[in-house]
Amino acid sequence: MEQSGMTPEREKLQLKKWILLIGMLLSLALLITAILFLVKIKGWQGGRSRTELLAVVSSERGVPEDLGQRLSFIDDEHMLDERCAAELESLLAACRAAGHDCRVTAAYRSESEQRELFNACVEELIAEGKDEKSARELTLREIDPPGCSEHQLGLAADLYAETGTEETRTWLAGHAWEYGFILRYPAGKEGVTGHPFVPDHFRYVGRDAAKQIHELNITLEEYVSMFYSG
Ligand SMILES: [Zn+2]
Repeated sequence: MEQSGMTPEREKLQLKKWILLIGMLLSLALLITAILFLVKIKGWQGGRSRTELLAVVSSERGVPEDLGQRLSFIDDEHMLDERCAAELESLLAACRAAGHDCRVTAAYRSESEQRELFNACVEELIAEGKDEKSARELTLREIDPPGCSEHQLGLAADLYAETGTEETRTWLAGHAWEYGFILRYPAGKEGVTGHPFVPDHFRYVGRDAAKQIHELNITLEEYVSMFYSG
């Protein structure tokens, strides 16, 4: 009698132990998932490359220091970061295969090249009779100041078509994301990017980010603040 009275008690105790154990395992699994999720969101998994690919450059923030990019030629005169050089070549090949005449008019620039370009534009406007202040202001609408251009990252390229310009732009805007590129300064988003609309400036952010940016119809600024805040 005593033994049969104890058995259900022990069974209950065993059951409680199991429930507790399963509960603990589930909590642990949940905790691990949460940590992995945070690691992914914070960009720690990819280390340097992940955050660099998503670097936001503006006139306030400037180009991050010590980029240490490895540049690779994409044609006779233009270089890009080797992480996106082949992607750009694939994008251009697909664009041409779709019947567009598309070429690279700008890619990587060093800070001194950016300075030369900027100053040349200012000087040209001064030669046309503008005073220095307005020459600088007008230049800023067209060219980013030295230290603040995405071209210095080696992750941006200007893509231009002499003929069928509009058709090519439409094609690129619809397909660049497939190769990890986004139209960086779209029309109507000037308030978000703080940058005038530039129809031919494409920026590499990697395929995953480019796909999401395209699907959500957002800018890099919005993407970074949505997924990488804090
Ligand atoms: Zn550009």
